[in-house]
Amino acid sequence: MHTKSTAILQFIVGHSGFALISYLDKNRCLIYFTSMNISSNTTVQTFQYTLTGGKWAGSSPVITWSFAGNQGFDTTLGVSYSGYPQFEDNFSDTQKNLIRKAFQVWENVADIDLKETDDSTAVNIRIGWDSIDGSSSIYGTTLGQATVWTASDRITKASIQIDLADLPSADFSTNSPDSGKWSFLGTVTHEIGHTLGLGHAASSKALMYAQATGVVAPVDDDINAITALYGQTQALTVSQNPKDLPSLEKGIDPEMYLAANTDVAAADIDPVVHFNTYGWTEGRNPNYFFDVEFYFGTNPDVNDAGINPLSHYLEFGWTEGRNPSDSFSTSAYLTANPDVQLAGINPLVHYLVHGFVEGRSLA
Ligand SMILES: [Zn+2]
Repeated sequence: MHTKSTAILQFIVGHSGFALISYLDKNRCLIYFTSMNISSNTTVQTFQYTLTGGKWAGSSPVITWSFAGNQGFDTTLGVSYSGYPQFEDNFSDTQKNLIRKAFQVWENVADIDLKETDDSTAVNIRIGWDSIDGSSSIYGTTLGQATVWTASDRITKASIQIDLADLPSADFSTNSPDSGKWSFLGTVTHEIGHTLGLGHAASSKALMYAQATGVVAPVDDDINAITALYGQTQALTVSQNPKDLPSLEKGIDPEMYLAANTDVAAADIDPVVHFNTYGWTEGRNPNYFFDVEFYFGTNPDVNDAGINPLSHYLEFGWTEGRNPSDSFSTSAYLTANPDVQLAGINPLVHYLVHGFVEGRSLA
């Protein structure tokens, strides 16, 4: 027996006033789970997320997803998937790329493999445009709807509908939406969270908050929720701690640096100070994507000059097309992310601060 539950993200239109405040007021989300047990983690105060009680089966589960064509319910799936949607329209390339990013950000932090697949009703999670409730209601227009079917608390099938009627007010950037707009990326990422087993978070700063806000990517609370279900990704990660941002802007990932250098952690020395003073001379690496030995090895002029290789890369190296390691290509990142190139931002710093959590491609 499959249990169906539905989560709806709603959008309130027509609220006037200050742009900042209207973020708080203009969006609403309703959620109802028909028979799943919603569990809240209330024992640790900083954990404000909720789980729906379901998750995908297995460790490191491979979960397929597709851009839904207009295929609806396939009778071979059986009656237990009643309510399976019939999608109405295809996504544009821009929209598809944002959806890929949305899946990628969850995969970046949790031990799950979200695999884009050709569309069929056999796919685990299908996402498409659909008519939900129009765009005219003052008190709430649904932006997106996630539907999850479970059997024995394991998710067996999920679908995500994005309301076609709200297309005109969608913001298709990776930034917080302008006033009066809603973030397509944030909404899709939120709905994907539901299809992975997340409920709504109590904190308005969380992506899984019941109301859509300017938040477009998972924050700590959301990451705690998804890793509580699946564990942390086995892949290299960039620190997602907001207080680490100033260090990341200097090319140093404190979480990684302290984990890799327990003597620095034990001595309670600031990772930025330590790296720039001693670390680079001792061959220690400032983040997962900068390899001090590699940089010296591939740039004998820097090696001969005996200067801080990270400082060299941040100031000169990237403009000369030099690479921080063999796992990060300066030119490939700029080619794959033309907005970064246009903005003239150091590609590695961009990736550490923004690109990683946005699921940007490295090449
Ligand atoms: Zn929701």
